[in-house]
Amino acid sequence: MRDGKDKVKLSLKGLKAQKKKKPPHASDSVEALLLDQVEKLNRQNAELSHGNGVVLDMLRAPVVQPEDLEDLEGEEEKRRTPEREEEQRAREEEEVDIFGESEPEEEEGREEQVGEEEVEKRREGGEEESSLSLEPLESSEELGEVAVSSKNCVTEEDLLKDYLKKSRVEEMKEEDEEGGVPEGVEPQAAQSKAEKMKEEEVVDDGQPEEYIIDFTPPPAAPFDHRIVTPKPHQIATFYAINRDEVLGGGRFGQVHKCVENSSGLTLAAKMVKARSQKEKDVVKNEIQVMNQLNHANLIQLYAAFESRHDIILVMEYVDGGELFDRIIDENYKLTELDTVLFIRQICEGLQYMHRMYILHLDLKPENILCVSRATNKIKIIDFGLARRYKPREKLRVNFGTPEFLAPEVINYEFVSFHTDMWSLGVITYMLLTGLSPFLGDDDNETLNNILACQWNFEEEEFTDISEEAKDFITLLLVKSKSWRMSASQSLKHSWLSDHNLHYRLHQKI
Ligand code: ADP
Repeated sequence: MRDGKDKVKLSLKGLKAQKKKKPPHASDSVEALLLDQVEKLNRQNAELSHGNGVVLDMLRAPVVQPEDLEDLEGEEEKRRTPEREEEQRAREEEEVDIFGESEPEEEEGREEQVGEEEVEKRREGGEEESSLSLEPLESSEELGEVAVSSKNCVTEEDLLKDYLKKSRVEEMKEEDEEGGVPEGVEPQAAQSKAEKMKEEEVVDDGQPEEYIIDFTPPPAAPFDHRIVTPKPHQIATFYAINRDEVLGGGRFGQVHKCVENSSGLTLAAKMVKARSQKEKDVVKNEIQVMNQLNHANLIQLYAAFESRHDIILVMEYVDGGELFDRIIDENYKLTELDTVLFIRQICEGLQYMHRMYILHLDLKPENILCVSRATNKIKIIDFGLARRYKPREKLRVNFGTPEFLAPEVINYEFVSFHTDMWSLGVITYMLLTGLSPFLGDDDNETLNNILACQWNFEEEEFTDISEEAKDFITLLLVKSKSWRMSASQSLKHSWLSDHNLHYRLHQKI
């Protein structure tokens, strides 16, 4: 987590053109076209959502994905009458104020303290917020997807093509998943199998034998997933904390490298200042969320300690620095293929989180850590704003820099899985170009750019970028949230899944 100051640092470091001016008139040719395109898409989407939604019915799956809850909401919305609306408002509408800007956080605190036991209970008894089960869903390939836009129609067709030309590495990975191993539970097994395949050379559609892309997941945490409850002990009794080695500065404290005395395990200790009960509840929410997440692309929690003034989270440690640093490092040339690998993993992590009904809500390059400097493996961190999805939850965030905020967050509307997908679109844009798509001269301008969904591919940095990458971004940076791709759809998009494309990108390097 960084604040606005970093932007200054960024330009000093010579980031290409982190800040870019928006053309004043939408009539400017390319942008106008793109705006038109996006608006047209939004309009079509709006029409579809008002009853003409027959497109892609054949692709509709019989089972509802969590990502599709928004669509259900839309239907519900249509059935509402003013009376029902009034009646339900009191019951349904929850206002969440993470930093104490509004009143009723007590209810929220209780609701969010979902222990593992409770999760199990909900799994058995069904989720109270909706009739959908909490159980992670089957492979999205088996279930199929609910199509969200006419553009996705193309994507789904591509999908079919892609199916036919999958590399053996990928098939291997699917085999592992179908073999009943939940995603992320035993990534080492999947990894070693896939790595073996990799060594055997991937030959696809006459591609040269040396063509190898490492799609294997990152290494799992060096410990089994555990359910953590904060202990009232002194952390210093069990861990040696390296006070001189600050891994990062957070919103409310610092993250240090530390070593567990008994095991010699190197870990990261995030010290969070939390004096009031309310502050403590926020950190405990982070712990509860992490307790539910067991995936190789999501940083794992090891232990927690609570004292009068702080709570310390001890986590899996990774050494490769923030993705943010790779974007701004002039000595490190991020290729489009690197970006494909990064974004695929972020999508894998998000798909898992969303299947667990959890939203991250603070995705940005600072919250994506590289596992090492030598590879393109990443893990998502900072679950400080993450929470269980509640269909009618609004979110008020006291944000530092607003570049990554989705329009619905700025507008204080309901947040959902699609809110994370917007951030993914922004991150993709940034990784490909080093530019921040909505950044204005000040926060106000940035916010206005976001609300107007004002972005384009005009910058020269896009000259060599594939059409597939642009299409991917176009399907995420859509103002109307329900029409953004879901994480599962993103993974199936040709930019992330077409091996012929990846080969072409590989050739360009
Ligand atoms: P906050 O929620 O207070 O913003 P973060 O969880 O984002 O804190 O952590 C702040 C910074 O500390 C990160 O951006 C990263 O540079 C570093 N960091 C956090 N967790 C780890 C970790 N597990 N391993 C290595 N560095 C970490």
